[in-house]
Amino acid sequence: MKKLLYLLVFISLTAQAQTKLRSKIDEKANSIEAKVIDWRRDFHQHPELGNQETRTAKIVADHLRSLGMEVTEGVAVTGVIGTLKGGKPGPTVALRADMDALPVTERNDLPFKSINTATYNGQETGVMHACGHDSHVAILMGAAEVLASMKDNLEGTVKFIFQPAEEGVSEAEIFGAEQMVQEGVLDDVDAIFGLHIWSQVEAGKIGYRSGPFMAAVDGLNVVVKGTQAHGASPWSGVDPIVTSSQIVMGLQTILSRNVNITQNPAVVTIGAIHGGIRHNIIPEKVEMIGTIRTFGVKQQELVHRRIKEVISNIAKSAGAEAEIDLSYGYPSTINDPQLTSKMLSSMESAAGKENVFIMDPQTGAEDFSFFQKEIPGLFIFLGGMKKGGDPLTTPSHHTPDFFIDESGFTLGVKTLSYFVVDYFDN
Ligand SMILES: [Zn+2]
Ligand SMILES: [Zn+2]
Repeated sequence: MKKLLYLLVFISLTAQAQTKLRSKIDEKANSIEAKVIDWRRDFHQHPELGNQETRTAKIVADHLRSLGMEVTEGVAVTGVIGTLKGGKPGPTVALRADMDALPVTERNDLPFKSINTATYNGQETGVMHACGHDSHVAILMGAAEVLASMKDNLEGTVKFIFQPAEEGVSEAEIFGAEQMVQEGVLDDVDAIFGLHIWSQVEAGKIGYRSGPFMAAVDGLNVVVKGTQAHGASPWSGVDPIVTSSQIVMGLQTILSRNVNITQNPAVVTIGAIHGGIRHNIIPEKVEMIGTIRTFGVKQQELVHRRIKEVISNIAKSAGAEAEIDLSYGYPSTINDPQLTSKMLSSMESAAGKENVFIMDPQTGAEDFSFFQKEIPGLFIFLGGMKKGGDPLTTPSHHTPDFFIDESGFTLGVKTLSYFVVDYFDN
């Protein structure tokens, strides 16, 4: 009986300590809201493409240093790592933000509108934070300030990861998160958290999903080789155009006939077909390129296997030959189920239970998945749409009209900070 009483007292003291830390987080996060918004506007006005985020990285590194952290720069080209050692020993948790912008010319009329330009793949283009990574950097700088202010109360170490080139760099073979993993950034880390601001989720809300959340994105290159012939006598050749048409249709049956659509969706899109030069010449070959989106390794293996079978057998039935090249891109972003359920109360107490919802699987991809391949990770979506906005008509990410409502930033700062103290507390 006495033991039970002691246990109850211990549990209630721990809960009290946690509540105290959370209210400290709230207070500090609220007090720096304007600062976080200012940082974001500055980054928005000065966007930098992947692996060129030197200005952003310098501001981040200076800030982390001013908070008394140990800082490493030039990680995976332009990345920055800040390490905050808590007052007590414990696990190491990483928080991650991506820093890169996109080759998009902004159309919004804002006082902090982006005016940068760059040459991308030989083309002159505007540069814009059209995916909201400016928000991620500012929010994580805010979380760093909040957590540094309660350093003595932290029972573990926090690693702040500012990652370059999430969107990819056309000339590089590997980039961003994958490069960071290869450079050993996660070697001493037990769990990782990240967020994405989302222009089609209302500010003040958090979307999450346990297990596969975002798709793996893989590339498909096909060359169908036939035998050239006069367009008036197709029987004298092997027509790669008709064969390719059958292949395009055949590929769609993988999704309707082979994938268990009650579990996870999948997508196979052929985005380009090239073949032929004249109305009465059946060409020798047709080239096709496409994208494949799958959720989880098992589904990815199934879809890849069926793609090869469908293409090579349709080609064979026509007497043609098919060269198939499947390339692996970002893996599926898979939230660790145990970590996700452990952290649900952190999200609910930061946003209010009614503002946390389970999101549909997203067929876009995110290289946070490379971190999650190594250690348990949780990736969530933070609302960035004006309250009362319509997600169907709100401009989507990667477009010139993409717009973020800043009123949800403080929730982002709080949630990342809660993740850390709650993880240490468990
Ligand atoms: Zn993006
Ligand atoms: Zn993004």
